[in-house]
Amino acid sequence: MRPKILIADRIHDVAIEEAKGFADVDLEFNLPPEELIEKIGKYDGLIVRSGTKVTKEVIENSNLKIIGRAGVGLDNIDTEAARKKGIKIVNSPEASTISVAELVIGSLIALMRNIAHAHRSMRKGKWERGKFTGNELFGKSLGIIGLGRIGREVALRARAFGMDIMIYDPRITVEDAREYNCKLVDLDELLKNSDVITLHIPLMDSTRGMISKEELNLMKDSAILVNIARGGLVDEEALYEALKEDKLKGAVLDVFEEEPPGNSPILSLDNVVLTPHIGASTDEAQINAGTVVVEKIRNFFRG
Ligand code: NAD
Repeated sequence: MRPKILIADRIHDVAIEEAKGFADVDLEFNLPPEELIEKIGKYDGLIVRSGTKVTKEVIENSNLKIIGRAGVGLDNIDTEAARKKGIKIVNSPEASTISVAELVIGSLIALMRNIAHAHRSMRKGKWERGKFTGNELFGKSLGIIGLGRIGREVALRARAFGMDIMIYDPRITVEDAREYNCKLVDLDELLKNSDVITLHIPLMDSTRGMISKEELNLMKDSAILVNIARGGLVDEEALYEALKEDKLKGAVLDVFEEEPPGNSPILSLDNVVLTPHIGASTDEAQINAGTVVVEKIRNFFRG
C-alpha cells in the first residue's frame, strides 16, 4: 500500500517528484487552519516547512504516522502532542551544512582580502591597488568552537587552505579531533592563540553570550571572529566596542541578536563582512531541505 502524504508548504520540485515515487501525494499550500484540521485525517504523512502550524488540534484530528519538517526548527510543530500520539518527526538540519561551511570560507576571504571595499571603490571609478593589501589564510591558526556537522566541513576546507586548526567542543574526543587533523584544546587556549575564531554551536541557555567582553579580551588584537551560527552567541555591544577600538581586527557576521539588526552600530564599521542570515540560502540547500526529509519518510515507510 502506498502511503498518502500531504505536502502543506512549498518544497523543491525535485523533492516533490521523489515523494511521488513512493507515495500518493497531495499538494495543498497555505491551507487555512480549519481546512487542515478537516483534511488531515486521510493522510499517513505530512510535510511542512515553517509556514504551516502543526497544532495539537491538527495532530489530534490526524492518523499521521510521520511529520517531516523540511529545514531545521520545529517551533511550528507541537512536538509534545505528536510524541503522545506516537507520531515520528523528522527534519533536515544536515541540508545546509556545505552551504554554511562555504560561506564561512568565502566571507573570511572577502574580509581578509577587502573584496567588498575594493569592489565598491572600483564602482566609484577608482583604481586603488595600494589600499587593499590583505592577508592569506595559509599558515594562520583557526579556532573552531563546535566540531559538529558544519564545524567538520569548515575544518576540511580550512585544512585545504593550509590553516592550523584548534577545536573546542566538550563532546569531542582527542581521536575525533585527530581524524580532522585538528588539535583539541580548552576554550581559553583557543581564544588566546587563534588568528580566526569561528562559532559552530547551537544557541541554548548555556551558550547565549558565550563570546562576551571577557572572551573578546583574551583574543589577539589581530584576530577575526566569524559568527555564521546564531546571533545571541556573541555579545554584539562588546563586539562593536572591540572592533571600534581595534582590540579585534575584524568580524564576519551572518546572524545577529536582532534580525534584521535595525540601527545596530555594527553596521557602521569598516572591518566587518555582514550578510543577512544567508548561510542556508543556496539552491542546493533548498533542494536538500526537501529531498533529505522525503528520503527519511521513504525509509520510515519501507520499515
Ligand atoms: P551540530 O549539532 O552538528 O554541531 C554542534 C556542535 O556544537 C556539536 O558537536 C556540539 O558538541 C558542540 N557544542 C555544543 N555546545 C557547545 C559548547 N558550549 N562549546 C563548544 N561546543 C559545543 O550543528 P551544526 O549542524 O554543525 O550547526 C551548528 C549551528 O549552525 C546550528 O546550531 C545553527 O544555529 C547554525 N546554522 C546557521 C545557519 C545560517 O544560516 N547561518 C544555517 C544552519 C545552521
